[in-house]
Amino acid sequence: MPDYAKIKAELDGIAVEDNPGLVRQKSRDFFWYSPILKEQLDQVTGDLLVSPQSEEEVIRTLKVAYHHGIPVTARGAGTGNYGQAMPLSGGIVLNMARMNKVKAIFPGRVIAEPGTVMAALDRETRAHSGQELRFHPSTHNTATIGGFVAGGSGGVGSIKWGGLRDLGNILRLRVVTMEAEPRVMELTGWELQKVNHAYGTNGIITEVEMPLAPAYDWVDVLVGFDGFMRAVEFSDRLAASNGLLVKEIAPIAAPIPYDSFSRHKRYIRHRDQSVVVIMVAPHAMEPFRALVEKFRGELLFRADEVESMKGIPEAFELTWNHTTLRAMKADKSFTYLQVQYPGPNHVEKVRRMTEILGDEVPGHLEFIRFDGQVQCSGLPLVRFTTKERLEEIIRIHEDNGCPIFNPHRYTLEEGGMKQTDKIQLAFKKQTDPKGLLNPGKMIAWENPDFDFKSGKTYLYPGLEALMSA
Ligand SMILES: Cc1cc2nc3c(=O)[nH]c(=O)nc-3n(C[C@H](O)[C@H](O)[C@H](O)COP(=O)(O)OP(=O)(O)OC[C@H]3O[C@@H](n4cnc5c(N)ncnc54)[C@H](O)[C@@H]3O)c2cc1C
Repeated sequence: MPDYAKIKAELDGIAVEDNPGLVRQKSRDFFWYSPILKEQLDQVTGDLLVSPQSEEEVIRTLKVAYHHGIPVTARGAGTGNYGQAMPLSGGIVLNMARMNKVKAIFPGRVIAEPGTVMAALDRETRAHSGQELRFHPSTHNTATIGGFVAGGSGGVGSIKWGGLRDLGNILRLRVVTMEAEPRVMELTGWELQKVNHAYGTNGIITEVEMPLAPAYDWVDVLVGFDGFMRAVEFSDRLAASNGLLVKEIAPIAAPIPYDSFSRHKRYIRHRDQSVVVIMVAPHAMEPFRALVEKFRGELLFRADEVESMKGIPEAFELTWNHTTLRAMKADKSFTYLQVQYPGPNHVEKVRRMTEILGDEVPGHLEFIRFDGQVQCSGLPLVRFTTKERLEEIIRIHEDNGCPIFNPHRYTLEEGGMKQTDKIQLAFKKQTDPKGLLNPGKMIAWENPDFDFKSGKTYLYPGLEALMSA
């Protein structure tokens, strides 16, 4: 057991917490979305919570941790879904939430500390110069910009701008390494992709520079359709309408909207109505309405015409993984999947999955721009019965040309491309030679011979011990 009394003394002057209840609270994220991760990760906790207020305090903390050989797992707001921010080997949970200053705003870009909550960042850039982040996760009101870069992928606005993986959607990252003498690196261009979506396994982000877009008073809209596929066809057409400025398009199959969107329920006509959740620029409302009419959609709700929005959540909090959250609140047996429907025949792929899986897997799509083309990715709900059936549903998707990004796995590889990211791995060898940053999340580091084609799930040895304790 590391000498935490000594470590605390060495961290003198930096905010430190070792109350086990409080440390445990800050060791958890939204892993419980998955019944499988819930079982695997429930016992996970760190030993010490350290909350730096500056890059200099991050450097000091990493130096002490390196010297004592203890793991460090960064944490933003802990809204990740796959146990990304959970310290599988205990050690220090590095709470970045106090590094939350917007440092500078320019035409088209902003520089901020990583713990800045995205809604707060947007408030400042809007007030300063009528700009906002190009896109944000549906956890806009709670999640941090550093956590988004290290653990997220895309979100509200991705219909226009694509995702974090697209060159230019992150401009610069400042990163501290985990070495005897931590180095500070400034990464741009391809270089910063080493740290983008690496779960904090190969460096701690201490500053981000993000591009901005013009801000609008987006109008929240709900459009109803009598069949899910009709909602999908409308969404596809809307997404491809060059002249209509929208920020979000999410078709969601009945009965999810009626059963789960409690504050909007009174606007939805009946349980069998599928709904498309949309954010439209104010000046685009009239032409948008014309498209809705053409598809015989029913304009159920528009925020610019309700008397008061009091008690009604913003539309984006009905989308992305908020759809999942709301469905799970209404019916605890739900879980979900993350699906790609590669274009150009993405709509046909969705139709096929809907025909095969029906109400066992109610559809939820997010329209996005992917390598320049309109496409949809899916976060379909799944009425969970057994692990075996979940695996079967995954196989059915894959057999029909719809790859799954498995949200029931905590490693980078199994949740992603199911192969080693050699560039991220090589970078980790330089920046974290002892393997102390968020251990257990990069299989390639722990077990370079792991066979991704074997069909086996990777179990981090440290976690195996915890589960059998
Ligand atoms: C209801 C709900 C809806 C969601 N919707 C979306 C969505 O639309 N799009 C999307 O992409 N995600 C979504 N997510 C996932 C998550 O909310 C986002 O990815 C979010 O941006 C994570 O930010 P966070 O501050 O909570 O990060 P955390 O969960 O705290 O951390 C995420 C990862 O980043 C690492 N990390 C955090 N800060 C740093 C740092 N400074 N340096 C290095 N590593 C760091 C952590 O170790 C962890 O691996 C959703 C989750 C929920 C629960």
